[in-house]
Amino acid sequence: MRAYKIAYLGSDSEVSLALSGALKAAGMDFMSASGDYQGIRKAVDYNSDLLLWDLDTSDTGQPAPIEEIRKQGAARQGIVVVAREGDVEAAVKSLAAGAIDFVFKPVEEEDVAPRIIASLNSGQQRKRADYYRQVIEDTNNQVRGILSNLTDPAYIVSPQYQILYMNRAAEEIFGEGLRGGACHSVFYDRGDPCEVCQKSKGPTRWRSTLKNGKSYRFISALIRNPRGEVEKLAVGTDITPDEEVRKIHRTFISNVSHDLRTPLAAIDQYVSIMLDGLGGELTEDQKNYLDVIKRSSFRLHNLIENLIDANNILSGHFKLKMEVTTVNEILAIILGRLESQASGKGITLQVQIPDDVPQVYADKSRIAQVVANIAGNSIKFTEQGMIQIRAGFMPRDEGRVIVSVEDTGIGIPKEDLGKIFDLFYRVEKGEVYVEEGAGMGLAISRDIVRAHGGTLWAESMEGMGSAFHFTLPSYKAGQQAPHEKIGPRERGFG
Ligand code: ADP
Repeated sequence: MRAYKIAYLGSDSEVSLALSGALKAAGMDFMSASGDYQGIRKAVDYNSDLLLWDLDTSDTGQPAPIEEIRKQGAARQGIVVVAREGDVEAAVKSLAAGAIDFVFKPVEEEDVAPRIIASLNSGQQRKRADYYRQVIEDTNNQVRGILSNLTDPAYIVSPQYQILYMNRAAEEIFGEGLRGGACHSVFYDRGDPCEVCQKSKGPTRWRSTLKNGKSYRFISALIRNPRGEVEKLAVGTDITPDEEVRKIHRTFISNVSHDLRTPLAAIDQYVSIMLDGLGGELTEDQKNYLDVIKRSSFRLHNLIENLIDANNILSGHFKLKMEVTTVNEILAIILGRLESQASGKGITLQVQIPDDVPQVYADKSRIAQVVANIAGNSIKFTEQGMIQIRAGFMPRDEGRVIVSVEDTGIGIPKEDLGKIFDLFYRVEKGEVYVEEGAGMGLAISRDIVRAHGGTLWAESMEGMGSAFHFTLPSYKAGQQAPHEKIGPRERGFG
């Protein structure tokens, strides 16, 4: 085994003599050279493992010029400073600059060898740590190199949910220059972290529909950065059904839903005729049975209309009739119906629209449909208390009108909150399950709001109630809608 080589760089002959005696006695090789760049070169050529830098070679009281020593070629050696007796300040400053230890003059032969051995040891450990850090950095760079060429989106986030890296495919979906933003807000328009991040600290799989309308299966892994922090790497695979399959789905749904309309209209008509007594006298029981049929056929009618709507959005046959209007005008279309639904359940419906809420440029009946959907849900999922519909103005982002519907109902479990806007998603847990509905209203509503250039989101606490909010850009003279036509969306059914 080769002996450790120690170099002293300085001009103090007493120190040099003491070191020489102590280190040679401990089986180490020793050399001494001047405390300047020439000395450093000699120590490097000598292949020394440790440099002892005498602070007397620099200005007294100054720390060792570690950076400079390293630049002169002593990149891998541990550096120990030899300071004047009691010059604690210079010793400490040298440590802060990167020295691994210090010895004070006068150097005592019997004390110095164990100190040097300890320094060699810590120098080795540091070298090992540097090596692993380098390996991690190289691996991370390789991973990023591979990710940048993927055609599927990939990103890396910090434990604080900050985006650290997005590959080109992800930037094409979400936009460039988003590094540093919170992943839940950039990817999913959410104010708080998604369930996936909240629940699982380890590798995870999940599915998501992204802003480009496509569905992805994500898989995430934990990676360590050179500072030792754990980051999350996620890679998505596009699982959107291809155009041929989507076309078959759309045609099927369109045909079935239109075919269902005709017999349903007949059922409705004949039930009404019978209830009006035109088919003969009815007993109370018969009237009750017919009432049940009428209510069920009304639900079926709503379901079919929603299916046709959703299908139209997917196939791009969904036009908006834009006009300058107000939140009050929009609410007027549906308020009567909502009020009678609410009073039927003994719930108060409150509406507060301040006079100074600006006009919007919108398709009145489509936005009314959005309010009817979310307020209808609020009524459906609230047994007592009240529903409040409010509007306000947010001057941020060139001015937005915000409409909120708040209820005191059953609320939405945290793990479902991010999914309720997915097509066909319903919270189906014990008493939370309500028979009516097929999980389409919110998906359709979000598409309608997005087509107006707005956002729809929800806040909720299980057992406490929910609040749904959507924004619309406030009207500016000469404004055009961002998308006068919705779709075609690439999101498939099922
Ligand atoms: P649905 O026709 O089933 O109501 P939606 O898309 O409108 O479909 O809503 C999806 C699901 O979100 C509902 O089935 C329900 O579980 C949940 N949800 C929506 N609004 C509320 C609310 N105000 N309170 C509690 N749960 C709600």
